[in-house]
Amino acid sequence: MSLALARKYRPRTFADVAVQSHVAATLKGAIALGRVAHAYLLCGPRGVGKTTLARVLAMALNCERRGDPSLGGEPCGECASCQRIWSGASSLDVVEIDAASNRGVDDARELRERAMYAPSGDDRYKVYIVDEAHMLTREAWNALLKILEEPPPRVVFVFATTEPQKIAQAAAPVLSRVQRFDFKRIGAPDIRARLERVLREEQVEADPDALAMIARAADGSMRDALSLTDQVLAMGEGAIVPERVREALGLVAEDEFIALLDLVAEHRAGDVFAFVARLADAGIDFGQFLTGFGDVVRALLAVTLGGTPPEVSERAREALEQRKQVFAAGDLLRMLSIATELEPRFRKSGQQQLLLEAMLVRFALLDRTVSLETVLRGLGGGSSGGDDEPTAGPSSVRRAAPTAPALPARKTERAPSDTPASDWRAVIRDADRAATTAAPSPARATRDVPAAAPARAAPPSTAPAPAARGETVSSALAGAPDLNQLVERWDDVVAGVRAAGKTVAATALEHAMPAAVNARGDVTLALEEANPIYEQALEAVKPELVSTLRRWFPGVQRVVVRVPEGSASPPTRLTDEMVRSERIAVLRRKDPVLDAAIDALDLDLAD
Ligand SMILES: [Zn+2]
Repeated sequence: MSLALARKYRPRTFADVAVQSHVAATLKGAIALGRVAHAYLLCGPRGVGKTTLARVLAMALNCERRGDPSLGGEPCGECASCQRIWSGASSLDVVEIDAASNRGVDDARELRERAMYAPSGDDRYKVYIVDEAHMLTREAWNALLKILEEPPPRVVFVFATTEPQKIAQAAAPVLSRVQRFDFKRIGAPDIRARLERVLREEQVEADPDALAMIARAADGSMRDALSLTDQVLAMGEGAIVPERVREALGLVAEDEFIALLDLVAEHRAGDVFAFVARLADAGIDFGQFLTGFGDVVRALLAVTLGGTPPEVSERAREALEQRKQVFAAGDLLRMLSIATELEPRFRKSGQQQLLLEAMLVRFALLDRTVSLETVLRGLGGGSSGGDDEPTAGPSSVRRAAPTAPALPARKTERAPSDTPASDWRAVIRDADRAATTAAPSPARATRDVPAAAPARAAPPSTAPAPAARGETVSSALAGAPDLNQLVERWDDVVAGVRAAGKTVAATALEHAMPAAVNARGDVTLALEEANPIYEQALEAVKPELVSTLRRWFPGVQRVVVRVPEGSASPPTRLTDEMVRSERIAVLRRKDPVLDAAIDALDLDLAD
């Protein structure tokens, strides 16, 4: 195979550009009706066919059989002109410019001057295809604007860009002079279908799972899919099977991802290092690995929510089905959210192995919140000393939900019967999340204030000191105790206070939980319920409490007690929600399955 597939199978007609049919049909119609615009702006991710479609347009405009009613606006694809443009051979009438390397004003002036030359023949069109158009400078756009205002006859500009918003910023007036088309990201099923057709033509057999792997690796780019297929074909003979794809592209076997899920589920944080070292030895690209693992987590999320994950092999689907009880949807979403946040930093980092290890260790520890939920649910469910009044966690008051402690912990997080235990989990999750962003989060800052407290005036002592608010620098970095560890040690702390003879305080502590730790070592304790006796008892033992905590966590400086917010849904909740949704918005845009999943979870958050 001497010719690269991407080149060999480059579309010759609008009909060939199947995925972008909405754009292709419009352009074809414009040509058939002789209503071609002077300038087009083609927007969309890389590899989705923008330049290809621009070339087909150029072919159609200059086709020797143009106007032939049987073509209906399509180029014939076979005449000398079509052939020349299609093959990219130099054509007087089609000029391709890469704005990334020609972005200055001089180029634009040159362009303007050249545009003044008429097409090479009376019946021909001159087509300028400007790729990466967002790279043009403001000055260059100004120069171009003059042409676009008074376009020479039979000159067509086609601007292609992945970042139309940059053009809007640099040259807003241009946008009103171009006809804009937005190209769709190409989904894996479309890519796979195209690969099937191409390989059938090439008379190469291909396993569907193998093609799905290539489609996934191509990440929405048809061009990439075809060149990845070239790579696979270059390595070995015969049919394309998963093993061959994996080897050629350095992909990770699905089994590895499944094994990693098990490792995380079983909290084997210590095994992460051996796992990652093995990947490194195998020469696995960590960036690809991160993407691949994200896909598997997403697929598991779909399975967990009762959906069908797109684009995973039959075998992986079965493996995921077997594991759908293992993770709560919320945990999977958290993992995805963390992975997505890491991604931009990850690509640029010289410490990918370290980042990957840290993330996976986090995942392995993350799930503990679910176990903790189970534990707390047991405590709050009435087993501890007949305390069966509904205990209100600091955030459960927002929902005032009735309790149904009998439900299995992991699968109930979307049920309306959320118990205080899961609210603890929300508190811890928030704290955990805040700690990872290493930046003050407005949501925390506002939430820590006992919001307006319409029902009761918070005694001054219960309001967290300003220092305790919004300080969300990673506590691990600063040597302050880790919140998860604090929570795990909590029973010992309570026992210590009790042993010191502070019985009331110990009981109060049993009704409190560490909710936040800041970099200065200030520990915020959240009381389950507003109880003045407990509050006073805790105020009175603060010094003892600090010294007890220091037995395990020498970094502790201060203890702040927080009481539940008023029973009305506080407006601060909105802020919290906004922060959450902002971070999830990225994920949402990425795929519809996840979008639906988040909708399901949003119901939970808002109920
Ligand atoms: Zn032709």
